[in-house]
Amino acid sequence: MALRKLVAGNWKMHGLSADLAEAKAIAEQSKDYPGVDVALCVPSILIERAARALPDFTIGAQDVHHAEKGAHTGCISVQMLHDAGASLTIVGHSERREAQRESDEEVKSKATAALSCGLAVILCVGESLEVRERGAAVETVVGQLDGSLPHVLSSETELAIAYEPIWAIGTGKIPTVDEIAEMHSAIRQRLRERFGADGDQVRILYGGSVKASNAVEIFAIADVDGALVGGASLKATDFIPIVAAAA
Ligand code: PEP
Repeated sequence: MALRKLVAGNWKMHGLSADLAEAKAIAEQSKDYPGVDVALCVPSILIERAARALPDFTIGAQDVHHAEKGAHTGCISVQMLHDAGASLTIVGHSERREAQRESDEEVKSKATAALSCGLAVILCVGESLEVRERGAAVETVVGQLDGSLPHVLSSETELAIAYEPIWAIGTGKIPTVDEIAEMHSAIRQRLRERFGADGDQVRILYGGSVKASNAVEIFAIADVDGALVGGASLKATDFIPIVAAAA
């Protein structure tokens, strides 16, 4: 049975107080699509204000530290995110894997910490262009998954996987329908191997240059259970048509 779709926006390092009006517009217009789960992962400094202003809407973070507390200057714990009103977090985004040199092991600890404290997780995986061109995309992504997945799924909250080819993020390029289908099917298979029948309940999102003009085609692909959207999540006029395509 098809899973309910999740369309999550990743604002990255975009958004000031004034942009909360846009988050409000997105939350309001999302109500027209009750069959779709919609979330916005805003910069951490905006989480509390966004969550207060939009109590019925899912506000997420873009990263979290694995430790509960301690000497980790500049980092934010799962408990802090909860306290601020976030109910999910992205982990392992390729921009962090690259710029902050986050390893699979680190991503796994973050996912485990978040899930064990009731925070939903969107765990990102994806290959570089060089890997895709040498024909190693599937084995690389499945390898990342093996290294980053928590040992067990949480009964309290949800894990989703976002397949985000690095070369498709913010570039306007996207893989072919067959390439997306092949990767999502490989991810599904690995999730089943790891978690048995529960692996079928893990949503697999596609991310990388999703916009209104390609969303319908992407959402029609088997095992695409939603999208993680960067640039096109900043404005309701760009984002809501993607939500509509998932409905
Ligand atoms: C992202 O960074 O998660 C992303 C998918 O970005 P964009 O939609 O802009 O390609």
